[in-house]
Amino acid sequence: MNKEEKIQAMTEIMTKFTGYMGKHLPDDVTAKLKELREQEDSYLAKVVYDSMTENQELANRLNRPCCQDTGVVQYFVKVGSQFPLLAEVQDILRTAALEATKEAPLRHNAVQIFEEKNTGTNTGERIPWINWEIIPNEKGINIEVYMAGGGCSLPGQGKTLMPAAGYEGVVEFVFDVMTSYGINACPPLLVGIGIGGSIDVAAELSKKALFRPLGVRHSNSRGAEMERLMEKGLNDLGLGPQGLSGKNSVMGVHMETAARHPSTISVAVSIGCWAHRKGNIQINEDMTYEITSHRGGTL
Ligand code: SF4
Repeated sequence: MNKEEKIQAMTEIMTKFTGYMGKHLPDDVTAKLKELREQEDSYLAKVVYDSMTENQELANRLNRPCCQDTGVVQYFVKVGSQFPLLAEVQDILRTAALEATKEAPLRHNAVQIFEEKNTGTNTGERIPWINWEIIPNEKGINIEVYMAGGGCSLPGQGKTLMPAAGYEGVVEFVFDVMTSYGINACPPLLVGIGIGGSIDVAAELSKKALFRPLGVRHSNSRGAEMERLMEKGLNDLGLGPQGLSGKNSVMGVHMETAARHPSTISVAVSIGCWAHRKGNIQINEDMTYEITSHRGGTL
């Protein structure tokens, strides 16, 4: 393949994958919803979980998005410094969001600031959002695609605490956010928490926390314990599926952390809803690819 052919191939892959992950939930979310359904004994909670399963089956069968809100498209990219299309990735992903909007189709969700006009293409100023990490000496690219829906973006909050607030202050902030706004986001929720020394770092990490596979804990044993305790506390609130009460509130609590300034602790929360549309794809330098989030998925 020459360079032009590679650009065309990657654009096609990413167009199809962007549409695909809006219709199919990833394996870990599907398994977690099944697990939570089995824990319920109330009629209402079971019915709601069953309707989520039916919704998913219909989306698969009819080849339609699994929620009407297909979100603002975001790409979290880990690209090898030797990836042959490094300079073209940004244009490719913008074209992919635009084409997927027509082909999938995706709802139009890009409103230009100040003009207050929906572009109708899911592209606009800095949208699709692209977050970059460059991996030295690698030749491939790994892309996490995320659809940031309105409901699940609404509870997103951040705050910089005085250091004396400690980890108790972090937990208090998370619970305030969840009890005030969590219900807006179609529970059961995935709670992403970022902790660092400034609000921008915490906010970015809170979103990245949503991409960790469910069931994988923070690498630090204290971090893992804090995730477990918050998960238990939030589940004890009993929000239940769609906030209609039940045994659980969350699919999980994930924290991502960065070393902080001695005088600050910044904490941010990002939320994923039950229809947590995240998709991970690995593309190699020869444009072969593997979908790692949806076993057996084909484009
Ligand atoms: S919160 Fe999630 S499931 Fe609910 S409407 Fe928004 S995108 Fe859809």
